[in-house]
Amino acid sequence: MNIALARKASGRDDIARLASNENPDGCSPRVLAALADPALEPWRYADPACTALRAALGETFGVDAETIVVGNGSEEMIAAISRAALVPGAGVLTVVPSFGLHEIEPMAQGASVTKIAMTEDLGFDIDALERALADEPAVFFLSSPWNPVGTGLDRSSLQRLLRATRQGTLFVLDEAYVEYADEDAPDGLALLRESGASFVSLRTFSKAFGLAGLRVGYAICSDTRIARAVSAAKTPFNVNAAAQTAALAALGDMDWMRESVGRRRIERERVSAALTALGFRPAPSQTNSVFFDCGTDSADLAAAMLKQGIVIKAWREMGYERFVRVTIGTEAENDRFLTVLRSLQAASSDRETHAG
Ligand SMILES: *Cc1c(COP(=O)(O)O)cnc(C)c1O
Repeated sequence: MNIALARKASGRDDIARLASNENPDGCSPRVLAALADPALEPWRYADPACTALRAALGETFGVDAETIVVGNGSEEMIAAISRAALVPGAGVLTVVPSFGLHEIEPMAQGASVTKIAMTEDLGFDIDALERALADEPAVFFLSSPWNPVGTGLDRSSLQRLLRATRQGTLFVLDEAYVEYADEDAPDGLALLRESGASFVSLRTFSKAFGLAGLRVGYAICSDTRIARAVSAAKTPFNVNAAAQTAALAALGDMDWMRESVGRRRIERERVSAALTALGFRPAPSQTNSVFFDCGTDSADLAAAMLKQGIVIKAWREMGYERFVRVTIGTEAENDRFLTVLRSLQAASSDRETHAG
């Protein structure tokens, strides 16, 4: 929901936007300075190959820049991978609940998508995923840390999935939240590379780096053949000059990003503990959001929150209609959310007492 609609619906100016996993800290001041620099030259076409950005990314992650493809958000890379790797009738494996595009883009190519549900305790069903990988789907889309749930794959689970991946399967590990993962989380890229599997690791500047509005994400591919195929499936001038400039400046200020992530981690633990104290069961999160069964139709909770100027995400996937995903905001935004949640809970137990 955009801010104008939220203002209209709530009659309030001070909207807490906790539905899109944006960074409430904004972005590095170096990004804003770079965007204001005339060297940006908006009147020129930007480099279609994103040469400088790919070189900087290659250096940062210790990979060959030729295996990196930059996209208009990692969303564009999900579409490009689907176009490059799928034909009608091809099999795709993913999970549910999930990031919608992992299903929508393959379906747009006529693929048939199998979705493995999360376990009762809000984790990945590794046994079921292993069995499904034995069918050799053309592409396996998986986010870890997992949007919307928050759970991250541990080392042995990721290794099991990689061992179960057959030669004909492209393993797409969407690491949009990798910067928010626990300190002891496995290095997904290193494990992918060790495995010998065909893979793409998807990363983005939208979340921890705070550049969601500029649209820049990238694919790190197992080899140049896959990178060329993905690149051929995107539009030539997909990443605009402002996005390339901003991403380079953001990469040059890792300290800003790490400090921002540090604040979110503290708040994430605080919000999770407060939810648990209220009797909810939030999944252990390694992202910048929390996911939990709110006990009623999540659309009702989202509507009640919106009246108070708080935008959260009601999860509407089949079987998960009682779940909400709430972005971890600033301390003040999180307090607002928790205060409203407590008062709604008190009002509903009041009603129950009077009805009973
Ligand atoms: C936010 C998100 C993205 C999209 O990132 P963009 O780079 O903004 O397109 C991709 N995958 C997952 C799992 C996300 O949560």
